[in-house]
Amino acid sequence: MYTTWRLPELKEELRKRGASLRGKKRTWQYLNFTTKKLDQALHLYESRFLTVVRSSWTEDSCFIKGFCKKTMKNLQYEVNIKLNKEGPPEESHCECPAGSGVNATCKHIAVLLYAVENMAQQKCIILSEVCTQQLQKWNCPSKKYTGTPIKADKLPRKRSVKRLLFAPYPVENIDRESYNYKVRNLVLAFPNSTMPMKQCYEPANPYAVEADHQYLNMDARRNLLNELKLVDITDADIKNIQEATINQTESKEWHLQRFSKERPYLAASPDGLLGSQTLIEVKCPYASRFKNITPNTVPYLFKENSDLQLKTNSPYYYQIQGQLYCTGRDFCNLIVYTFKDLKVIFVSRNDAFIVNMLMNLDSFYENYFKEVIFNKYLYYNYERIE
Ligand SMILES: [Zn+2]
Repeated sequence: MYTTWRLPELKEELRKRGASLRGKKRTWQYLNFTTKKLDQALHLYESRFLTVVRSSWTEDSCFIKGFCKKTMKNLQYEVNIKLNKEGPPEESHCECPAGSGVNATCKHIAVLLYAVENMAQQKCIILSEVCTQQLQKWNCPSKKYTGTPIKADKLPRKRSVKRLLFAPYPVENIDRESYNYKVRNLVLAFPNSTMPMKQCYEPANPYAVEADHQYLNMDARRNLLNELKLVDITDADIKNIQEATINQTESKEWHLQRFSKERPYLAASPDGLLGSQTLIEVKCPYASRFKNITPNTVPYLFKENSDLQLKTNSPYYYQIQGQLYCTGRDFCNLIVYTFKDLKVIFVSRNDAFIVNMLMNLDSFYENYFKEVIFNKYLYYNYERIE
């Protein structure tokens, strides 16, 4: 709100609230933006000159960082603002020549303040659209893809990792025209600042950090897998996860997670357990909800010597064999239920089938699933430097 107020209005407001116009100068001095600068800044903000905004909190401050494009050239300035928890800015700093110092009031800072205000009040923010945010148009499929899914072991392999170079601050950034201002600002103006230096620097590329810490007794990837309990899982861990998942589910039928101790990345949630050797799986085929259960109405079943059986190429057969593997059980009672009929189909553990399925799952886990986990939780989708 304060960014849009002109000085006379503010003085009037302060007078109304009975505040001294001389006190609290430090808090309110940011309101000394000139009208011209505010109009310029509002125009820049509405013309999408801001590219990125991020924020972080400590107990009594909020740090805002933004990138504002330069008016004439295709460059951008980094803007840092510290707000106290009541809202008013306490410190600010911009890479532009006018933005140096702990209490800079250049137009870029006003642009960022407009963005924060807009975000806080209207829950929206106007940022410049980069090409990656627009939907790509060159290979939009004209119709739905109906082919069979590709088998995991037929997917192309990732290329091998080459030697990595340690570059916490990329050369492109050092070569930027504004880099000298940035260093000067950081070195000269920030000794008096309470802005954390961490806020002023871009995070290092995690690939580089990983390569620079080879003295650790475990590499970062293995450490992450360990923390996610994907390498070893103890009975206590399993119990904890089971208890957590039971409390989470609000639905009446809670699912009990069963983990494979051999392969902690595999888990199953059978619908029920019966005795020590049998588990229960329930299916209610919606399309046949008013019909009798036959191979015609329920296509994943077939008849053998007047007994109904589950087809071994059905996805449910994979599901049930997976559950039998994870729980270490030998039998499953598959209950198929419609409003008109109920059938129990007996499925036994098929070890040859399980071995084959595990081979495919291991291959998928090693070649694809792990990579996705690393990108998401270790490299934060940063690009690899080579
Ligand atoms: Zn500036």
